Amino acid sequence: MTTTHAPDGTAGRLDSAADPSRTALRLTDVRKTYGTGDNLVTALDGVCLALPAGTFTAVMGPSGSGKSTLLQCAAGLDLPDTGTVHVDGEPLAHGGEAALTRFRRERIGFVFQQFNLLPTLTVLENTVLPLRLAGRRVDRAAAVAVLTRIGLGERLDHLPAQLSGGQQQRVAIARALVTRPKVVFADEPTGALDTRSARDVLGLLQEAVTGHGQTLVMVTHDPVAAAYADSVLFLADGRIVGRLPQPTADAVAARMTRLADRASG
Ligand code: ADP
Repeated sequence: MTTTHAPDGTAGRLDSAADPSRTALRLTDVRKTYGTGDNLVTALDGVCLALPAGTFTAVMGPSGSGKSTLLQCAAGLDLPDTGTVHVDGEPLAHGGEAALTRFRRERIGFVFQQFNLLPTLTVLENTVLPLRLAGRRVDRAAAVAVLTRIGLGERLDHLPAQLSGGQQQRVAIARALVTRPKVVFADEPTGALDTRSARDVLGLLQEAVTGHGQTLVMVTHDPVAAAYADSVLFLADGRIVGRLPQPTADAVAARMTRLADRASG
């Protein structure tokens, strides 16, 4: 079994699953700094984690603890200074931007707080865009079926501006899932939504994991959203400082309060 430095034993426990093909996302000693000299900021300080396929992990921590940087590095949107990232057993491509883009298109889905739909494309066109960009066959019937299942079957030809925020985020999720990526990253996916839409979106994300075996990593500051996950990782000062399996909103909120006290104390 690989020994890791995860303070809570997370990576060690997950490594003991033994079959590396079951590890959807692995970060090994990932470090990332910004700036130089007096302005040097260590955003990630030796992060190790291993997430089995088919799990839903929430990432929480105080502002500035490194959550966004972790997501960016894990999703291949940015490169760590040192350390390695494996998605679905494959190391993140280091062959330049084109190789990285291809890697992301084949293995990764992304859901953003502000949806990031293309305003001039319809719901259906936005949904199948990743397939077109990857030069893959567009199965229109399958895309329509997905959109129908998530309640947007009547809105295939609508533009994003004609939809509510919750509906736009559902389209964004359909778009993230259409390529059947191994890992889906969501950055505050409910941050711009009302409570009811947030619940719908979280249910949809959860279903991608339970129904389709996808692996989901979600940054959130909302303990209620985090409680939809199988486990919560807590970050502070660029390190993983704790893990809470089977989280409840109350337990997550209590842990966050302790982290905030630590940061200010
Ligand atoms: P979080 O998402 O938890 O708020 P971030 O990952 O955004 O944290 O940031 C972690 C640390 O890295 C913070 O101190 C932040 O100021 C710094 N940081 C993030 N991005 C940049 C950047 N592009 N340039 C300089 N510093 C950055």
